[in-house]
Parts: sequence; C-alpha cells; structure tokens
Amino acid sequence: MRRFFTVENLTLLSIFFGVLAGVFIPELMLKLKILGDVFLSLLKMIIVPLVFTSVLIAMLGLGSISRFKDMGLKTVGYYLTTTALSVSAGLVLVNLINPGEGESFVPAKTVQVKTLEPEDIVWSIIPSNPVRSFVEGKVLQIIFFAILLGLATLAVNREKRTHIFNFFDGLNDGLINLTRWIIKLTPVGVFALVGFITADMGIEVLLTLWKYAVTVVLGLFVHAFVTVPLLAFVFGRYNPYDYFLKVREAVLLAFSTASSAATLPVSMQVAEEKGKVKKETAGFVLPLGATINMDGTALYESVAAVFIANIYGINLEFSQMIMIFLTATLASIGAAAIPGAGLVMLTLVLSSAGVPLEGIGLIIAVDRFLDMFRTSVNVWGDLNGAKIIDRFIKS
Ligand code: ASP
Repeated sequence: MRRFFTVENLTLLSIFFGVLAGVFIPELMLKLKILGDVFLSLLKMIIVPLVFTSVLIAMLGLGSISRFKDMGLKTVGYYLTTTALSVSAGLVLVNLINPGEGESFVPAKTVQVKTLEPEDIVWSIIPSNPVRSFVEGKVLQIIFFAILLGLATLAVNREKRTHIFNFFDGLNDGLINLTRWIIKLTPVGVFALVGFITADMGIEVLLTLWKYAVTVVLGLFVHAFVTVPLLAFVFGRYNPYDYFLKVREAVLLAFSTASSAATLPVSMQVAEEKGKVKKETAGFVLPLGATINMDGTALYESVAAVFIANIYGINLEFSQMIMIFLTATLASIGAAAIPGAGLVMLTLVLSSAGVPLEGIGLIIAVDRFLDMFRTSVNVWGDLNGAKIIDRFIKS
C-alpha cells in the first residue's frame, strides 16, 4: 500500500481529481489557485541559480574545450533533428486532417500582437548585462553566459579552477536538495493548478475547436510515442517505456504547469537519480533542452499556422509550407519555457507565411489546454535527449 502512495502516483491522481473538482466545485477551485501559485513560485525560485550552477559545473566537469565541442555539437544536432521530425509529423497530419477547411469563422477576440523578427532571437540569447538576465530570469542568456564563463574558466590554472568548481558544486547540491523538498508538494500543487484551469476555462471551449485540438494532440502523441521511442531504441539502446516510468513525474509536472522551465529542477533530479543519466550530461543537456528544444511547441506552431490559413480560405503553396517548417523550428527554439510562450512565437510563423495574425484570436481559447500537452512533449523530448546523448559521452 505504501508503495502505491508515491509522489508520482499521487500526482497522476491529482490531475484526475483536479479536473473533476474544476468541473464540479469551480468556485472553490478558483480560490485554491493560491496553492498552485505558491508551488509554482517555489519551483521558479530555484530555476535561475540551478541553471547557472548546473551549466557552469557541467562545463568545468567536461575538463576541456574539445569535450565541450563534442557534447555541444551532439546536443544541438540531436535537438534540431528531433524538432524537424516533430514539425514534419505535424505538417503531414494537418494536411491529412485539414482542420478548418471550408469552415470560416470570425475570430472571437482581436488580440494585440507584437510581430517578432528573427533578430529578436539573437537578443534573446546574447545578454548585454548578465545581472539583468538573472533578475529577469532570461534562461537562454544565463546559459550563454555560463557556457562562455565555463570555457574561460577552463583556461584558468587547475588549483584556482578546483576552488571555483567545489564552490558551485556545493551550491548545486544544496539547490538539488531544495528541489527534493519542493517535489514532495507536487500532488497538492498540481491538484490546485489543474482544478483552477478547468474551472477558469471550462471544458466546453474544447468542443468548438475540437478538430484543430485533436490534430495537435494526435501529432504530439505520434512524436512522443512513436518517433522519440524509435530514437531511444535505435540510438539510445534503452527501453523508452521503462524510462518513462522512471521519469514520469517530470512529464506530469510539465502537463500541469505548462512550463518547461518550472519543470526543469524536477527533470534534472529524476533524470540523474532514477534515469541514471550522468550528472555532467544532465547538467548541460537538460537546461539547454528546456530552453531551446521544444518539439511539442514546434509541432503545434505548424499545425496552428495551417489551421488558421484554412480558416481564412488561404491555399498554402509548397514554398509557404517550407517557410512554416523553418520558422516553426526557429520559433520553438526562441520560445520562452513558460506558459503561453508558443502562442507569442506563432506570430513569427504566421507573418513569414503570409497568414493573418488575427487568427491567433481564434485559437487562444484552447491554447492553455494544448500548452499542457505540448509542454509534456517538450520535456519528454529533453529527457530522452539527455539519456541518448549520455550514451555517447565517455565518463
Ligand atoms: N509552455 C511551453 C513550455 O514551457 C512553451 C509553449 O508555450 O509552447 O515548454
């Protein structure tokens, strides 16, 4: 009996009961939002120091610049490949199912959208002031700074370098302990978050946009249960279903928080302790993955763009499909790992393919629900990236 009441199982139950509570006692669940917010704040509290110390000690742990090149290239190469695979799955499905074809409706809301330019992505990576990146929680900039600082520190003499390593390694251990304590609160936090979202949005919105939502979810399932497991079997040589059981807590948390960043502390903990990924791999691959590898988001952007084009009766040419493919990949790299970030980046995809931005007003209603699914796939992709790349990194 004790074995059943693990945090993982309780979290799963709390998603179920959260939805039920959101439907049957919505007033109470709206009030309980504070519990979910407290839990999220606790997770967010550790992200910035955890990312900085993990990336820095992973860099120092590599010991040399050539090993960094090795791990860095493998990681970025792997992430780009999986993102491209997921966008392709999305484009194939959306062209087969054709949601929105022949049903034009007027967008429910007009939204004010700021158009994103490709160069915004450059500035989301390179900080002009790292202290500001810390204060504003700009994770990609923090990673960029930590990688450069790590490289430069590798060139410092060994004795001094050991001091720096020991200091940040100790701090990192402390942060991981703190994460463990916060994880114990997951079932309560998840219950409150899921209950609140269900009460706030209502299940009904799903029904109006069901075909679009089903296409996104189906694509996500294909990526999560077919593509990624194949890569795991072939390149990782491990059983992805066993691995899922070990790391599922992070995936469930991603589902309920809709934030890869908030899930990161838990992903790192489960990947290392249960998934047996080496600390130096997890410390480098997971923070980077949480920020740049969003397979689920990329897939969703491509489906959403084609759906909106259909609604406006636009027949997309092959060249526009290619634009969608490229910008969806780029947009997913630049999307922040927070709820709703994918929707903002969608502007980039729509404008580059010449699809009206106002279409965003239409899909906004179901976005939070889809965000939960796509974030789970984002995190699942990162966790497998860490496990697969780990096999190719000599200890
Ligand atoms: N919520 C997603 C994430 O944090 C990003 C998105 O909105 O697609 O991974």
